[in-house]
Parts: sequence; structure tokens; C-alpha cells
Amino acid sequence: MLIVMDNKATQQQIDKVVGAVEAKGYTARPIPGGERVSIGVLYNKGAVDASLFLGYPGVKDIVPVTRPYKLVSREFQPEDTLVQVGDVTIGNGHFTIIAGPCAIESEVQALTIAEHIKNSGAELFRGGAFKPRTSPYSFQGLGEEGLKILAKVRTETGLPVITEVMDDSTFDLVEEYTDVIQIGTRNMQNFTLLKRAGRSGKPIFLKRGLAATIDEWLMAAEYILESGNRQVILCERGVRTFVHHSRNTLDLSAVPVVCKESHLPIIIDPSHAAGRRDQVIPLSRAAAAVGAQGLMVEVHHAPEEALSDGAQSLYPEQFAQLCRQVKAIYGIFND
Ligand code: PEP
Ligand code: MN
Repeated sequence: MLIVMDNKATQQQIDKVVGAVEAKGYTARPIPGGERVSIGVLYNKGAVDASLFLGYPGVKDIVPVTRPYKLVSREFQPEDTLVQVGDVTIGNGHFTIIAGPCAIESEVQALTIAEHIKNSGAELFRGGAFKPRTSPYSFQGLGEEGLKILAKVRTETGLPVITEVMDDSTFDLVEEYTDVIQIGTRNMQNFTLLKRAGRSGKPIFLKRGLAATIDEWLMAAEYILESGNRQVILCERGVRTFVHHSRNTLDLSAVPVVCKESHLPIIIDPSHAAGRRDQVIPLSRAAAAVGAQGLMVEVHHAPEEALSDGAQSLYPEQFAQLCRQVKAIYGIFND
């Protein structure tokens, strides 16, 4: 249930309602909005009697919440969440492009790719230091050395950086170095990790699980918000289907659904969806047209030598072309 306060409600009136909710044994979560504060009522088992709170001064309305997720839902917060990463705002009607290699391989590799993607208009640099690999024999990432290279990329280029955290034990380390913390598809329902992400002061980039429904994905985001971190970006990266023509199937329909259900920004990763270079630009164009708020794309200056995901990594010239095309498409639908 959501208690909507009048736009002239005083802090004292808000505090009074919060106190009344908590006195009933529920948890009250004030949600500041553009015009007014709403108070989310959480941890209620079954329906809450709205008349308990309607009479309080400053209360405008009581809205039942019909979805299993609450804090991430538009019912709780109608306004879009804007995620701030340095000077970059994600979710404010501006198409944000995140790009970089699958894995950080060396300082030279990272800096070379970072220069290319920056010149083409990317606003954040990505690169894995701890890599979740299907095979234990594949390159697992440079670990802390990779994080140090990411920090160097930020210093040299001014681009904020994003990298994946794989487990609780390395969370503090990753958090120290990166601007945005990625939780990958394989960890979407790692609830311990989600709760730890909720205690972080840094934005979280939450990828959709390999076979997760949208409800499961939003419930995973709910864990992060419920633990205190409202700066969450969702990323659709393809789901497992029966096809062989691509690594996964990009679920573009997730974009309008998520935009309707949630105020959190959604970004598309066409690289892990496709698994092959020739599909990345077409899928990116579609992502811009369908209303996603940005892209995460893998780029490598020498993909044939890449230590992971070379087959799906774009050459820098292809990435430059992608940026030109998607910005033009996004402009048409968001003028
Ligand atoms: C990645 O972005 O590096 C990655 C491993 O992606 P995913 O979790 O979507 O497979
Ligand atoms: Mn990859």
C-alpha cells in the first residue's frame, strides 16, 4: 500500500504518518517525488486497512499496490529514476552508451579501446576484471590488477567505469575501484549479493537472468532497493531460447513492459544477446527505437586476439557507425 501525501504536507505530518504505520508493526518507506512525498507500507501480511491512515493531516490518498514488487514499481514511484554517474545521468531521456572490452586484458588494451569508444561518443567504459566463464579453463580475468587498470582508464580518459562483481567476498574491493557495479546474469538471484549491493553507495547495473521472467528480475531489483540503494539500472541481455542463430534471444518486448511497470532505467546489451558481431548493430538500432535508455556494447581493437567474447566484439569503426546510427534513431522517437 502507498500513502500519498499532499504536496503541501509538512515534514512533521510525514513523520506522524510514518510513526503511525510503524506502530501497527509495518515498515514505512518515505519516497520523495518531484511534487510530493509518498510513504510505502512494507512487510504487511495481507491487506492493510486504509482507513487507519486516511484521517491523518497531510494524507491525500491511499493507493493499493497490486504488484509483488513494490519499491521498483511505478505504483510506488511514478517518476522515472535518474541514475547519476559522475557527470552522466542515465534515464533522463538521453541515450547513454556504455562500451569496452569483455575483459580487461592489459593496460595498453584497455586504454586503446577506451580512446576509441570515447571518440565515438560512449560515456562509460566497461571491462571485466572478475569474469564469470562457462569453462574453468577460460581466462578468468585479471582480478585486482584489472580493477587498477579500470581506475587508470578513468583518470586518463575521464570516463566513469563499470565492472562486474561476482561474489560477496570481492564486493568491497570492486566497490572501491568502480563507479558502477555490475551484477551479471548468472548472479541475478544471488540474494546475498543483491542485499550487499543494496548497502552500497554506488549505482548497480542489474542484468536479467538467463531464464528470468520480468517479475523475477524486478523482484531481484526490489532486493537492492529494499536494502537501501535506489540507484539501479536494469539491463536486458537476452534470454535462453531454442534458437541456434544467436547465443541468446534479445527480448526487446521487455523494454516497454519494464518502462510501464518500473521507474528504473533499462539498457540493452546486444553483444551478449547476439554472441556474434553481425547482429550487434541491427539489434542496437532496434534497442534505440524500442525506447531503451541506452546500450552496453563490447568493443575490441583486435577482436581476433581477445581473451573473451571476441566473436561478438565490434571493431572500433563499426562501433563508431553504431553510435551515429542509434543516436539518429533515438532522436526520431524522442524529439
Ligand atoms: C558481461 O557483461 O561481461 C557479462 C558476463 O554479461 P552477462 O552477465 O550478461 O553474461
Ligand atoms: Mn562478454
